[in-house]
Amino acid sequence: KISEKHDKVFATGCMPISPDVDKEPRANAAFVVLARNKELDGVIQSLKSIERHFNRWYHYPYVFLNDGDFDDDFKATVKNYTSAPVEFGKIDNAMWGFPDWVDPEVAKEGVRKQGDAAIMYGGMESYHHMCRFYSGHFYKHPLLMKYEWYWRLEPEIKYFCDITYDPFQKMIEANKTYGFTIAVKELRETVPNIFRYASAYKRKNNLKSKGLWEMFLERPAEEDAPPEEKKEKLPEEILQSEPGVNNLDDIDPEAMEGESYNMCHFWSNFEIARLDWFRSKEYEDFFQMMDRSGGFWMERWGDAPIHSLAAGALLAPSDIHYFRDFGYRHTTIQHCPANAPARQLPREPYLEKTTDDEKKRIEEDEYWASPDPVKENGVGCRCR
Ligand code: GDP
Ligand code: MN
Repeated sequence: KISEKHDKVFATGCMPISPDVDKEPRANAAFVVLARNKELDGVIQSLKSIERHFNRWYHYPYVFLNDGDFDDDFKATVKNYTSAPVEFGKIDNAMWGFPDWVDPEVAKEGVRKQGDAAIMYGGMESYHHMCRFYSGHFYKHPLLMKYEWYWRLEPEIKYFCDITYDPFQKMIEANKTYGFTIAVKELRETVPNIFRYASAYKRKNNLKSKGLWEMFLERPAEEDAPPEEKKEKLPEEILQSEPGVNNLDDIDPEAMEGESYNMCHFWSNFEIARLDWFRSKEYEDFFQMMDRSGGFWMERWGDAPIHSLAAGALLAPSDIHYFRDFGYRHTTIQHCPANAPARQLPREPYLEKTTDDEKKRIEEDEYWASPDPVKENGVGCRCR
């Protein structure tokens, strides 16, 4: 759905950084990093990567957020890895944890059951809080209120290629709202009822699809992928589970206009987006409705499918930017542009030309991909 028709790549080929980069205007933007003290090593890895491949030229500020207090070692170490301004903020109870309209015992019981059912992160209460914070609160954190744009950064991510233009400015110029690098399928058991509520939101507000909603719909069987995937069933207890603090019981689970969710979502550990959109009445209404269903506790709704379904309901394909040219990895999933093959030794015929020293630098990510950048598909990045 997000094709070149709606959305063109911002940079083609290997662009050198502009010698005038310091004089170019900056967006009103910041990196947002949610983390705990114990994640310092992963945070350093991410900082080194984004600084080397982008921010050493652009110096965008960082906002670090935590539900606890960052310790002095964390703060001092982080500041060693960037010359950009850094702020550290605490997230208070209004944005983290159980809201007062939830019975914490009911919610905790819901979380415990998901743990028993071995749902990924389902039994971890803090993870539920994190997802809800990123779904409905981060953009209202006092330290972010002054910003119009953010770029989300997580511990343990890696950028493979130099980003030699300002993605915020490009998004502004192209009138974009939300940018992603990777779209993947959600684990079905984490979101059994999410679509029911998203669909109800759309219907209650008489929202007509602007063309993006369809990206999240299961397609008719004949168009669809392998038949075994279609047959995949949820465990009985999940099918029967009712959101426990549900005050939206009037929503008929069948009334989804014959549509169902294909589990696709933008992987939100990378995001570049307009904060305005999250702060809009429409998004706020969406979050409130989703939140009141209890799905952040009684299921394990991730912020990624929440952001994606909100985009589906409210945005058009032309509002979305696919950063095809960003080489990016988080844990086991990565996106590599055509001329930046997966993190590996250069492919034939380069392999035999690779010296031991180069191999070592590749291992340390000092040097990236082919010594002779190949420009495939007209999409490229500077690989180093
Ligand atoms: P995954 O990427 O889905 O496996 O989840 P992560 O463990 O990476 O968590 C996503 C983001 O939320 C990361 O930036 C974490 O540092 C952050 N995070 C997760 N749980 C907590 C928490 O309890 N407190 C804080 N401060 N950050 C958290
Ligand atoms: Mn992560």
